[in-house]
Amino acid sequence: MRALLVEDDALLGDGIRAGLKLADFAVDWVRDGDTARRALLDQSYDICVLDLGLPQRDGLSLLKELRARGSSLPVLILTARDTSEDKVAGLDAGADDYLTKPFDLPELQARLRALVRRASGSAGPVLQHAGVALDPATKRVSLNGELIGLSAREYALLYDLLGHKQHIRTRAQLEESLYAWGEEAESNTVEVYIHHLRKKLGANFIRTVRGLGYQLGEEE
Ligand code: CA
Repeated sequence: MRALLVEDDALLGDGIRAGLKLADFAVDWVRDGDTARRALLDQSYDICVLDLGLPQRDGLSLLKELRARGSSLPVLILTARDTSEDKVAGLDAGADDYLTKPFDLPELQARLRALVRRASGSAGPVLQHAGVALDPATKRVSLNGELIGLSAREYALLYDLLGHKQHIRTRAQLEESLYAWGEEAESNTVEVYIHHLRKKLGANFIRTVRGLGYQLGEEE
């Protein structure tokens, strides 16, 4: 899963980024409104954590523009503006959730998990497909009720596939969900982890869509 963090405060941004990484997001962190705008236009994210008071361009105007383009990207506003009017304005501008500073990291992470599972079409907390269950809160993965041990990258890849159940995911998209800007990926990373996941979860669990990418296999 890939997150865009828009936060101009260095210390706070550093803490939020670390928290998002712990919650298994590959995080791109931008610190001003113009860079955020470009990132939102050029890249695809699964979630955006948006500060409102930003250099160059206010978070609220970024959000309005995003929604005017028809984007359904889940957006959580994270701001010091804590009046009821501010919250109404943020939610009415198209935010999916609103959290005020200071905040608890576990609460932020739980809210993000909720947004991701809603976006993936699952109301329940556990993502499931063909006997495989992944619980983002505990990071436990099971196959037909038996716990399966996965490496951090295998887990991140599986989380991405389960979170985009109906979609074919390209190799580039999967790579982006594993690595943030500036992190170096090996050229065959995705293939290697797909191979590992098939060994652990069954050869048909992930199918290759020739020339396009990967998708979860049919449910039996
Ligand atoms: Ca700010």
